[in-house]
Parts: sequence; structure tokens; C-alpha cells
Amino acid sequence: MIVDLVLVNAKAYYNKQIVDCALAIENGEIFKIGKETQMPSADERIDLKNLLLLPGLIDAHVHLRDEGKAYKEDFYTGTAAAAAGGVTTVLDMPNNDPVTMSATSLRNRMHLAEKKALVNIGFYSEFPNSLEQIEAIAAQGAVAFKLFMAAQIGSLNLKDDKSLVEAFRKVAKTGLPIAVHAEDQASINLNVQALKLAKRDDLKAFLQAHSEQAELKAIERGLKIAEDAEARLHVCHVTTKNGLDTITEAKRSGQKVTCEVTPHHLLLSQTDFERTGAMLTVMPPLRNSHNIEALQEGVSNGNVDIVTSDHAPHTIDEKSARSIWEVKVGFPGLETTLPLLLTMVRAHRLSLDTLVRLVAEKPAEIFNLKDRGRLGRGWKADILVVDFKHKFKIQASDFHSKAKFSPFDGWEVQGRPVKTFVNGKLVMDEQKIVARPGSGSIIGSQHA
Ligand SMILES: [Zn+2]
Repeated sequence: MIVDLVLVNAKAYYNKQIVDCALAIENGEIFKIGKETQMPSADERIDLKNLLLLPGLIDAHVHLRDEGKAYKEDFYTGTAAAAAGGVTTVLDMPNNDPVTMSATSLRNRMHLAEKKALVNIGFYSEFPNSLEQIEAIAAQGAVAFKLFMAAQIGSLNLKDDKSLVEAFRKVAKTGLPIAVHAEDQASINLNVQALKLAKRDDLKAFLQAHSEQAELKAIERGLKIAEDAEARLHVCHVTTKNGLDTITEAKRSGQKVTCEVTPHHLLLSQTDFERTGAMLTVMPPLRNSHNIEALQEGVSNGNVDIVTSDHAPHTIDEKSARSIWEVKVGFPGLETTLPLLLTMVRAHRLSLDTLVRLVAEKPAEIFNLKDRGRLGRGWKADILVVDFKHKFKIQASDFHSKAKFSPFDGWEVQGRPVKTFVNGKLVMDEQKIVARPGSGSIIGSQHA
């Protein structure tokens, strides 16, 4: 037989080892991994010159914007940024314009994305106006539901635990997880009110408003609600030691809960925020070294399940608003996550095993993407080629994202994504997009 593509002279991460091998791809899937001499004939052959082959990244926390917020990012630019960063699947958050919170808004988003996407996209939904719609949203192919506990985005009454339990129970029946942005809205509102009365408008005021206690309170509450509803909970971007310890304890007692951290919460501190300014404004905010150390330990020991970018593009104007209370939160991350993590591997602060688990294997597990996140026969050919020796400076002005700024701009890193294959197709080559819009697939959860 003649397969579509054979990659030769690869050093692939396969069965938890790095093996010299070749890899055959047929019909978007990995057909064979083995010696070059065992490979079938192929329409195309690519010599990887001993570069490292990893499963493509699955970034489970991405804001692709588009529709009403396309001026910040659209499906094409966002997925181009993903491909450039070695990310082959992104999961899109629902706080869009319109908010993704019905089968119709989800379907419209899928149709628009289908034409523009360069990598695979799955979609979160917020909670709909009527809980009766939860089933239809799941049937339409949402990968998870999202609850912003810090601000009113979906239709749930954030003050009413009973109705939250009821909503979570409905989602539990669909088999999908519920991801929460865990910051307590009531605490934040009280803090902001007091700070504004005191005419505070500085960076420290933002940190005080988004206190560590606000995170802990929301995590404890989210865990309790999920437990009562027998729902599977995923806590987004944990930033505090207390928060992580609380989640770890719940896991030990048998609760179905997972959590993520972002590279910025791992590598940047509130001191960086106060020194650099409003561009580093993010929710939850950057924390002190005590918390950062706990997150880093959690990443190494497995208490942290996954790493996500929380890619949150904005315009420069939105990041430089006059009042800290008006500054949009977040920054782009799709093009920096992998080089930052590979640099940690280089510095022996992370093993390659752990990296692959955090950004490919485990996110696939949590979000029921059953045939992605690993290199192996029969798995989707979502493949990333890395030049582990390549040292370079992160240059935000070169980003494929519309948001050409980054807290990591100018950082010296080592390990560059040089090729990205999505469903067996070369999408990014040497940081250039080489595929047509629409090459990525729209994917749904594959829960039983
Ligand atoms: Zn986010």
C-alpha cells in the first residue's frame, strides 16, 4: 500500500521514551511507528533530521474571540498562533460576543470556525437560560461547560448554591466536565467598592481586590457544589498554595476534580506586575513567590493536572486604559507556552514525561478527546516537531496572534516548534503557516 506521508529520521517521544524512528501517516492517523526500513511507500517523505517529535499540544483554555470580538482575534489568527506554538488542539472559552450558551450560538460558532481554523477546535459552553437546554448543547458537541464565578457571564445566579447544584447535576448527566473560574464575585465586589471609595486606582489595589482568599473561597464552594451534584469539576488557572492544597485534598478523598495552572502564574510574580505595569493585569492575578513555589511543586509532583495558556488577546489600547479597573485582563499565550516549558525542561525543572502529560495526555483525558494527545498507531496524527537546541528570544511583534504583546517579550528561551502537523497535514513549517484556512477540524467530546 501507499500511505500519505512518511516522516523519517525522527526522535519521537513514544511509550515514555525517546526512540529513533520513522512514522507513517495515512488518512490523518498514525499508521505505523518503526524503523525506516519497515515503512510503507508514501506519496510524500519528510526528513526530520533527528529533531524531536512530540504529540501536539492540547491547550484547554483559549479565548479565540472572533464574532463580535474579532478585532482582538479571530479563528484564523488564533489558530495560526496555536500552530506556530506547536498546539494542535485548542478548547475555546464561551465568554464571546454573543456568549456561547445555547445550541444555536454553539452551532454558529462551529460553522464560522470550520472555515477558518488551522488546528482542531473544541468549544466550551456557558450555562444556558434554561437548564433544559444543557442536553442539546452537549448533543451539539460542547466539550465542557464553564462557570465564571467572578462575574456574571452565563445565566446562573451565582449567589444561589441550590440552583448551581441543580445545573451541575444536569451537566453531570451528560458526562461532560464543568470548568470553573474560581474567584468569589461577592468578595471581589466588596473589595473593589472599598478600594474605589478610598480612591485607589493602582496596581496593588487590583491585587487586593483579587485576594488569595477570594480564590480559596470559590474553590471550596465549587468543590462542595460539584460534590453535591456528583459532577466532574475542573478548576481553571489555580494560583495559590491554599487553593491547590484544597483541590489535592478533595482528590485524595475521592472527589472527581482536576486543575490547571498557566505558565504566567508559574513564572511571573506580583513583583513583576508592579514593576512592569498594567500589561500584566490578569485574573486571577500574579502572586508571590510562596505561591509560585507551590505551583511549581504541584506541576512536578502531579497535583497540577494540566498546563494551559489562558490565551486572552486584547488590543494595546485595552491594555493601557487609564484606570486599573478598566484594563482588560489577560494576554496572548499560545505562542509562548511550549518554548517556556521546554526551557524549564532544559533547566531540569521539569521532565519531558511531565511536560507531555501536562500539555497533551492529561488534557485529552479530562476533555474526552479519546484519539488525541499521544503518538501511537491509530491515534490522530497531531504531531509537533521541536528543535530542542534552538535558542531564541521571544519576539511578540512576530506573533501570529493579533495581540502582539507578551509579558515574556524578550525572554531568552530554548526549544522552538519547527513543524506542526494537524490530522496528518503540515500546517506550520519553520514558523510559517503552510496550510489553507479550514484545515483544522471541529471536535466534540467523545464521552461514552
Ligand atoms: Zn480565561
